[in-house]
Amino acid sequence: MNDLYTIARNTIKPMKLKKNGEAGHVACALETASGAVFTGICIDVPCSIGLCAEQAAIAEMLKHGETQIRKIVAVYEDGSILPPCGRCRELISQVDARNGETIILVADGKAVTLNELLPERWDRKWD
Ligand SMILES: [Zn+2]
Repeated sequence: MNDLYTIARNTIKPMKLKKNGEAGHVACALETASGAVFTGICIDVPCSIGLCAEQAAIAEMLKHGETQIRKIVAVYEDGSILPPCGRCRELISQVDARNGETIILVADGKAVTLNELLPERWDRKWD
């Protein structure tokens, strides 16, 4: 997990966008079941338009035809680890039924599975 943390940290590139928008102050790195690593950055712009770093990394993974995430971490520009928001937890779950076992770094030295973060699945019937 430390390697993924370093990859995510090295992906952080904060930048200002038009009219109070910003991007790149959170970065995510994920490792798939095949061992491939994909990264993504956040985008925050006015009018509630935005994209979490996890969503960008997952889009990159899907672009390469993979869906099963072994490990994932998101890092803020100050180096702190950010647990995935509720929407990202759900997205990780929705792209592959096996992702309940995805290991998520939620704090320095603390990793949990997605199943631990989402114990009562609303969609268990369709797994
Ligand atoms: Zn999110």
